Amino acid sequence: MVDLAAIVGAYEGLMAAKHLFGGFIDAKADEAAKLKIQTAMEQVGKAQDTLYQLRDELFITQGKNDELRRALEEIDAWKQASARYALTRTEGGAVVYQYNAEPHHYACPSCYNKKQIQPLQDNRTLRGKFRCTACCAEYPIKPSEKSRPLQYPNGGGFI
Ligand SMILES: [Zn+2]
Repeated sequence: MVDLAAIVGAYEGLMAAKHLFGGFIDAKADEAAKLKIQTAMEQVGKAQDTLYQLRDELFITQGKNDELRRALEEIDAWKQASARYALTRTEGGAVVYQYNAEPHHYACPSCYNKKQIQPLQDNRTLRGKFRCTACCAEYPIKPSEKSRPLQYPNGGGFI
């Protein structure tokens, strides 16, 4: 595979060749030989330009390659993380993602759709709602305490 170092090496080789040709022109040479040397130097110049272009294209390609590799790593990481969650309906009627390992928790479906795992936090209210600390959405995870009949330890009524 051609890398940046190989291109730089080839470029430096061409620079050396150009320098050598220049030395011939300075030396005593007939006009025909000088013309040939100049033609050769022009060819070397063109080769240098091509190498410059290749170097720039290689640089851009390597940048894109790095970008794609990072994107693939993110996709893999999300695949692994999201595979541990399944959509479920809770006792309170909320449809959220449930973690299938320990510690047991639910994850915010809105954030899940944005490829983020946000464990829902218990509001510890009678309404049984949990909230997402990232997007602030609330979900009725537990049944509301208000809907349950009040029970007294002595079977009802006040003493
Ligand atoms: Zn959320």
